Amino acid sequence: MKIKDKLRAAALVTTLLICAVSVTGCGESSENETEITTYDKKENTQQYTKEENAELGITVVIDPGHGGSDPGNIMFEDTDDEVYEKEINIAVALVLRDMLEDSGINVVMTREEDEFLYLSTRYEIANSNKADLFVSIHCNAYEDDESVNGAEVHYYPGSDESEKFGEYIDSAFIESTGANSREMKATKLVVLSYAEMPAVLVECGFMTNPDELTSLLDSEYQHDMAEGIFNGITAYLNEVSDV
Ligand SMILES: [Zn+2]
Repeated sequence: MKIKDKLRAAALVTTLLICAVSVTGCGESSENETEITTYDKKENTQQYTKEENAELGITVVIDPGHGGSDPGNIMFEDTDDEVYEKEINIAVALVLRDMLEDSGINVVMTREEDEFLYLSTRYEIANSNKADLFVSIHCNAYEDDESVNGAEVHYYPGSDESEKFGEYIDSAFIESTGANSREMKATKLVVLSYAEMPAVLVECGFMTNPDELTSLLDSEYQHDMAEGIFNGITAYLNEVSDV
């Protein structure tokens, strides 16, 4: 079942519940009408509750980039201060996992340990779990210019729904972290190419920028990044429910 159909089905249940309320309360119609209007308004602006999310059965696949023998970007190589991209990616992903699970959304992680995964394994996990959304988490590097900084959200060219999903992630991520937005990028990334659901890859920041690297390694900032992605996911789900 597509995400929109799930949300439409949920909206139908809500409508039926409102009808039930108005029928049982028909003796005091004016009061009940006020109540219903208020409820309707809340419907459009509020996030789904934990119970509603659980009932909808929304599944998000989180993909912490790299792992195991593939460290991703490396800073301070061959020193005691060596930093691997894969470690930042998993740290953010685990916080995001907890936030989503706490709000009743099912989460499937492509990896929870420091293990190597092929790119194809990552989207196959998303497809075989019939996930509603796919988010891959990475950190950027640009050796030629350490002043370059900011976050980038990538989607596969031509995937309108992924682009729309990405816009929510991008604006919520920037709002939560205060990072410089490097705008959305349509990029032919293998990990996004065969995903059968709205799929994005978030480059959280540049490890080659000293200030940004300090932030990326900071647990509070990691929380802010996870919260940004979480807010983007829930805002997208809410938007889709209004279609
Ligand atoms: Zn990466």
